[in-house]
Amino acid sequence: MNVRIFDTTLRDGEQTVGVSLSPEQKLSIAKKLDALGVDAIEAGFPVISEGELKAVKMITDEGLSCEVAGLTRTIKKDIDAAVDAGLNYIHTFIATSDIHLEHKLRMTREQALEKAIEAVEYGKSRGLQVEFSAEDATRTNREFLKKVFGEVAKAKADRVNIPDTVGYSTPEYMAELTRDTIEATKLPVSVHCHNDFGLAVANALAGIHVGAACAHVTINGIGERAGNASLEELSMALQCLPYEQKYETHIKSQLIYDASRYVSKIVGIKVQPNKAIVGDNAFGHESGIHTHGVLSNPLTYEPISPELVGRTRSLRVGKHAGIHGMNAMLGEFGVTTTKEQSQQILDKIKVLGDQGKQITDVELLAIASNVLGEKGIKRIVQLAGFSVSTGIGTIPHAIVKLNIDGKEFIGTDHGVGPVDAALNAIQKITGKVSELRITDYELASISGGSTALCEVTVSIDDTEGNHVSSKSVGKDIVTTSVKAVIDGTNRIMLKKTLKDK
Ligand code: MN
Repeated sequence: MNVRIFDTTLRDGEQTVGVSLSPEQKLSIAKKLDALGVDAIEAGFPVISEGELKAVKMITDEGLSCEVAGLTRTIKKDIDAAVDAGLNYIHTFIATSDIHLEHKLRMTREQALEKAIEAVEYGKSRGLQVEFSAEDATRTNREFLKKVFGEVAKAKADRVNIPDTVGYSTPEYMAELTRDTIEATKLPVSVHCHNDFGLAVANALAGIHVGAACAHVTINGIGERAGNASLEELSMALQCLPYEQKYETHIKSQLIYDASRYVSKIVGIKVQPNKAIVGDNAFGHESGIHTHGVLSNPLTYEPISPELVGRTRSLRVGKHAGIHGMNAMLGEFGVTTTKEQSQQILDKIKVLGDQGKQITDVELLAIASNVLGEKGIKRIVQLAGFSVSTGIGTIPHAIVKLNIDGKEFIGTDHGVGPVDAALNAIQKITGKVSELRITDYELASISGGSTALCEVTVSIDDTEGNHVSSKSVGKDIVTTSVKAVIDGTNRIMLKKTLKDK
């Protein structure tokens, strides 16, 4: 059975505290979602501002292959704004729970029902596809909810949606409401679940199992408060879990990770490391037992393969590390060790691990080179020197001197600031050796004040699909950035040389 994916990253997702997107940013996300294979996107709430109207218009003008919807209240002015934004599909809503009717709308149930019917009729009279939502459905009197849905179906709504607006439903209750709604409307039913109790995806799945045709979701589960059901979790659960009924979606799962990173970067919300499917640790293994298992057969500790969602497995070392995983990691960088050397490296890792330290692969290589001596580890690129100049009334400029495989290279370039100039100069040099691209740059301050330590994380890709990220911590933003990029460059070049062998 095919389940329709209605993505509301650009509407409910944008209502996340602290998120506000420009029309251009919204359009770029809309294109990403379309490429990912969602069936419909909710582009925004056209009546709320000039910018929002413009954003929705830009998206409807783009001619995407997915359907594009806009949110409206059950108010004519809102529906007219949707038409002005070029939409032919609206998602119109009014609250139906007594809590909302009494404290927010100050309406009786009958008045709300009347507004709902009027809006559906008006939307249809303007030639629109109409999806009707009974806001706070899960806290609405069950009989009244059935009545509302039945009446909007009679008014010729095309679809109805059950919003669990404050994430208050259980999977069992969501299933009951979905059955009620299908019975009352005979229409395609959507479920819109919030994550206030961490049940958004479970609730959406419960609705789908009893016949809901569509789930409202967002990338990374962003949305009001604790967020919405996440696209990546819901679509992969449908595709991969051992349900008797087979489900499909149009999502191109290999693009999920890329879409997740893209949205995270534009909206400025980091994904928690332990987030399912897209979190940093979702396919990471550290403990010796797990690493050993995964290296013999990934099925031992991975329910799905990371490649399925566009990712790769990451092995880490720390106090739980074992010799197999550590050797496998060293092997990725062409480092081979004797049994005694391995034990020595592992002992050092465990000492650091017991002090609460996380060991990245850069540090692992440093520890290994300490044990093996310089000959053990090849550093292809070494920083021989650099300087930057910046200020007001001058163009930031950098000179970088690198030693690559024993040969000296000098690169100069300018940039929007000293970091950009330095990174451009490095890329000018490394570009001659291998085509590398810095795809991500993140700067964080670790402690307060102008003497704070900064932490720079960069991601580097090459044209052969190798991807590395590296981190550096230091006092000077420019130096730390340069070090992070040089580290990353070394690692990606080592990976490449090993593959070429
Ligand atoms: Mn919502």
